[in-house]
Amino acid sequence: MRNVDLHCHSTVSDGLLSPSELVSLAIKGGVDVLALTDHDDVAGLDEARCAAEASGIRLIPGVEISVTWDRLTVHIVGLNIDSKQSDLVQGLNAVRGGRLERAQKMGDSLAAAGIPGAFEGALTYASSDEMVGRTHFARFLVAQGKARNVSAVFKRYLVKGKPGYVSHRWAALGDAIAWIRAAGGIAVLAHPGRYKVGSAGLRALMDDFKNLGGEAIEVVTSNHTQVQVHRFADYAQHYGFLASRGSDYHGPGESFTLPGRLAALPSICKPVWQAWT
Ligand code: AMP
Ligand code: MN
Ligand code: MN
Ligand code: MN
Repeated sequence: MRNVDLHCHSTVSDGLLSPSELVSLAIKGGVDVLALTDHDDVAGLDEARCAAEASGIRLIPGVEISVTWDRLTVHIVGLNIDSKQSDLVQGLNAVRGGRLERAQKMGDSLAAAGIPGAFEGALTYASSDEMVGRTHFARFLVAQGKARNVSAVFKRYLVKGKPGYVSHRWAALGDAIAWIRAAGGIAVLAHPGRYKVGSAGLRALMDDFKNLGGEAIEVVTSNHTQVQVHRFADYAQHYGFLASRGSDYHGPGESFTLPGRLAALPSICKPVWQAWT
């Protein structure tokens, strides 16, 4: 059976490994088909493609788009995209365009809470100013001794209601799906078990996602429990969604599920990669 991992990050967004280092790690872990899915950016795909071609692993070009749906932030992964397609390129440009100003506001808000210099500090962890995000703030705050690790720093500073959290309007759900489809890709609802909405909210999200052209959901991801895996396998069957599998790997010491080290999809699922492998 193929080992497929369709959700990973590099230094282009908030991962810790370069695209080629990520490809090497995936190969070491036995991955046969890998998607690089950086947040709101496709700038790592050329390097990943070259590294993959040199080593025989199959690289699926991807992206993870930040979306605001009903005041909730949700992530839509686009798989097998043409990363040069103009609707997608322009859409991602617009989404990235909001990040720097948001980061300034996060820095101001942390300064008001007694932590100066976080905006400048976070930028030193980001590989480009326009891709700065909460993970870069988290790494800076850990280095400042504000919490033990990235996940502790999120809880204390970077989630709704905490000093470093600034609400932000990302792309509209329909736009993100339309850009992915214009680029010939498949839109996948990422880590559905992570959204803090009740089951009615989740069904409303999946209804909208389906009606707007979404075709797949992540069933196996590192932050789903076994119970959630089966719950989302059932949802996928009910909605007629294809199923995806991805670690959401960010880097050594931060992600405990290595690329490819995930459970298999439940047998009732139709794998999203069926058409490509
Ligand atoms: P942003 O797009 O800047 O809001 O950052 C979102 C990213 O922050 C996610 O993709 C994760 O990598 C990271 N993140 C979000 N919540 C947490 C958390 N509770 N613990 C660790 N990392 C998180
Ligand atoms: Mn991330
Ligand atoms: Mn995500
Ligand atoms: Mn991700």
